[in-house]
Amino acid sequence: MTSTLKRSKVELLKQQSNFLRGPIDQEITNQTSSFSQDGTQILKFHGCYQQKDRDLEKAKQKGEESAYTMMLRTRTPGGFIPWQLYLALDQLSDRYGNHTLRTTTRQAFQLHGILKQDLKTVIADIVQHLGSTVGACGDINRNVMAPPAPFKHLPAYAYAREYALKIADLLAPQGEAYFDIWLDGEKAVSLEADPEVIQARSQQGRGIAKTVFEHSREPIYGTQYMPRKFKVAIAVPGDNSVDLYTNDLSLVVILDQNDQLAGFNVYVGGGLGRSHNNDQTIVRLADAIGFVPLSDIYELVKGVVAVQRDYGDRLNRRHARFKYILHDWGVEKFKQVLQDYYPTPLAPARELPEFKYQDYLGWHDQGDGKYFVGISIDNGRVLDRDGLQLKTALRQITKQYQLPIFLTPNHNLLFTEVTPKAKSEIQAILDQCGIQAPDQIDPLTRYAMACPAFPTCSLAITESERILPQVIERLRTLLEKLDLGAEKFVTRMTGCPNGCARPYMAELGMVGSGVNEYQVWLGGNFDSTRLAQPYLQRMPLDQLEQELEPLLLFFRDQRLAGEGFGDFCDRLGNEQLHQFASNYRSDSPTKIKDQRHRVTLSPQIYERLRQFVTSENKSMKEVVELALTSYLSQQ
Ligand code: SF4
Repeated sequence: MTSTLKRSKVELLKQQSNFLRGPIDQEITNQTSSFSQDGTQILKFHGCYQQKDRDLEKAKQKGEESAYTMMLRTRTPGGFIPWQLYLALDQLSDRYGNHTLRTTTRQAFQLHGILKQDLKTVIADIVQHLGSTVGACGDINRNVMAPPAPFKHLPAYAYAREYALKIADLLAPQGEAYFDIWLDGEKAVSLEADPEVIQARSQQGRGIAKTVFEHSREPIYGTQYMPRKFKVAIAVPGDNSVDLYTNDLSLVVILDQNDQLAGFNVYVGGGLGRSHNNDQTIVRLADAIGFVPLSDIYELVKGVVAVQRDYGDRLNRRHARFKYILHDWGVEKFKQVLQDYYPTPLAPARELPEFKYQDYLGWHDQGDGKYFVGISIDNGRVLDRDGLQLKTALRQITKQYQLPIFLTPNHNLLFTEVTPKAKSEIQAILDQCGIQAPDQIDPLTRYAMACPAFPTCSLAITESERILPQVIERLRTLLEKLDLGAEKFVTRMTGCPNGCARPYMAELGMVGSGVNEYQVWLGGNFDSTRLAQPYLQRMPLDQLEQELEPLLLFFRDQRLAGEGFGDFCDRLGNEQLHQFASNYRSDSPTKIKDQRHRVTLSPQIYERLRQFVTSENKSMKEVVELALTSYLSQQ
């Protein structure tokens, strides 16, 4: 455990904030357009980031004041958005924000561009419409994820949603500051938890170490909350829509023979944020540590949280995420320490089917005679633009049908509980507004994700959301050129190594590393169960084709039957990929290197070979070998 004397400034601020009250309770009423640095730290716990528009910042004259705005993020466990909340957010974005809504990669909405003077009105309106922002940011448990599909014939989905809400409530901050500051002390009925959760919050565990602080206003967190953010997901066996391995704590629902909830498989220690040029910072996948019966779920969750609360690094924020405990101690030591808090040894994890990535786009049968429809939100941005009236469509459908909405962990949106009669009417609205069916969406776009980055994120090193569509277009052109037009792979981009769009799990991950430069990660897989590896440290964006063409060509010619790009890169490894790429220059006649010979082919001959490959249904390697044999026999 870290000594109190050594704790970082943020730790002191948390402790002195009187359970997340000060200094924002004072600063909200003053006439300034921004919060102090201390205020912004505490503000995060209320679901709010203070931001500067970095485009305006760049253009501003010397001595001119910065234009501050606020970003608000919703707390929406399992991605559930009541229709009333959606309509409120839609209106608030027009009246107080930047006219768009941003869906996040943790099943929440963000409102950008709110002025400080309007913050209280906006938060109060969100709460009055069955929403909340408390705990959506800050050193605390973040939005709990769950698979968004509302299948009625598969009870595991309903259990996952139920426990996403219960765990979110268990780990919600309990101080009254949120209600006092934003709602003048009025507590929202919609935020009251299930009685079993209320009881579990203050119930001491059976171990020798304390899971809760008795008589504290924050029984689980105490005065200093967590050392850093903490992320929980609930998953269904075989369904990796929540990116299971990237969370601090993931729980997979396990049913008994009667389809009743028996307990959960427990995974700990996933996390993706890192820093450039700092080998001490890591990306890590969660490890399965066993099975916990339903009767012990709250005690186990409190135990895991308490280990991080008590042993997490409170001196060095770059080493403070829970994954470092797992990395530094190893799984066995972690399990031993966990027993101080949760003394029951964990049973072995139950066997599970392979996890598959799901995006739930398009129409699906819910299993009860109704339907749900998944709508792709390009780059997570809900807006209207030429040829696409996405914001209009979502508003119109919500107003007309008042359907429960679920956000997906891949920043898309589902309308659920659609009757057969409403199905065709909703489809007509989607068609009218230019919203594409899943099979009309370019697969590169469909499986791509970007973080917001510029202009709002203060940590962005380079562009992400705004540049990804152009990058996808360039990748599309390149794939067509290489006759790989039918390929689909997962591309994820972020403006900095924090990795909000989880680029380290992608088949092609691009992480901002300098102005218009990206670190390139390769070798993640389509189902998001394997970490990618860094392939290039700094790729200028204008060299995208130059760097990727050799790899894609290599992939096209040497892949195994049915092998995806990520699997191919992982199988060959960086060394071979680099070796091939260094022997290839796209601006000169194509060079194909064999173990013994290097042969230079003119583009015309290469193209004829390509046509032969297609017509004969042979692999490029076979044809090149034939060509080499024939060539050598003539020497
Ligand atoms: Fe900002 Fe970095 Fe997250 Fe992108 S990945 S939103 S740049 S913190």
